[in-house]
Amino acid sequence: MPELPEVEVVRRDLEREVVGKKVKTVDVDGMRSVRRHHNRKQFQQRLVGHKITGVERRGKYLLLKLDGDDVLVVHLGMSGQLLRAKTARDPMAKHTHVVITFTQGGQLRFVDPRTFGEMFVTERDSVAEQVPELAHLGIDPLETAMSWEHFGALLAQRHTKLKPLLMDQKFLAGIGNIYSDEILWGAGLRWDRMSDSLTAQEVRRLYRSMMETLQDAVKHRGSSLADEQYVDLFGKPGEFQQFHNVYAREGEACPRCRHVVVRERVSGRSTFYCSACQV
Ligand SMILES: [Zn+2]
Repeated sequence: MPELPEVEVVRRDLEREVVGKKVKTVDVDGMRSVRRHHNRKQFQQRLVGHKITGVERRGKYLLLKLDGDDVLVVHLGMSGQLLRAKTARDPMAKHTHVVITFTQGGQLRFVDPRTFGEMFVTERDSVAEQVPELAHLGIDPLETAMSWEHFGALLAQRHTKLKPLLMDQKFLAGIGNIYSDEILWGAGLRWDRMSDSLTAQEVRRLYRSMMETLQDAVKHRGSSLADEQYVDLFGKPGEFQQFHNVYAREGEACPRCRHVVVRERVSGRSTFYCSACQV
């Protein structure tokens, strides 16, 4: 499932590729990907003739601002992809559910084999009403400047294990299973350390690791794993998985201390960490 860095890569690609383009036609295959609308026509009518004026990200949601008061909201879900096609003749991927053609040429296509993702058009002011989780979204580490002291105060207010707290979308936006493991390895902290038990030095390490891990992941175009479908706007997989230190590296040597990386099942999901140097 794409996390904050992957969605941010797609946002930056969209900003370069589709801002300033005007929607000529919209093709929709079935209702699954546009299920919030009553029918296809209603979705198409709110897009055709409008220009994309900017691209924002809120957590893992992409907001393509349109001229006027509307915004096209995109959530990639588990397996969704947004792909730029240079022309309508570019081969169409299987499971392409929405095709937006621009007056300037080129297309933006939404591909989603498992159809957990979605697209919908709504008024800019009612996005949070449509997606209640956005109304309670926590701090976005890439968007909001925050000092490590402030981060430490937020951690101290809670009495929760670190991994579920990092993944709590009401606490921080966009961090999931991969990046929480990588951030905690970088900080040298176990997944089950209590958030209010950290020393000032540990808070500083956790904060630095969070910022560096997420920024490096964006720099390396996100993580694409063997069983997942994340690619950028040009259909290219990310490269950050090559730099993962513990995630999906069970049985390998920890890059820091050479002890073996272990995997533990925590509430139905795998957690990877080094039991020697993460304390
Ligand atoms: Zn280690």
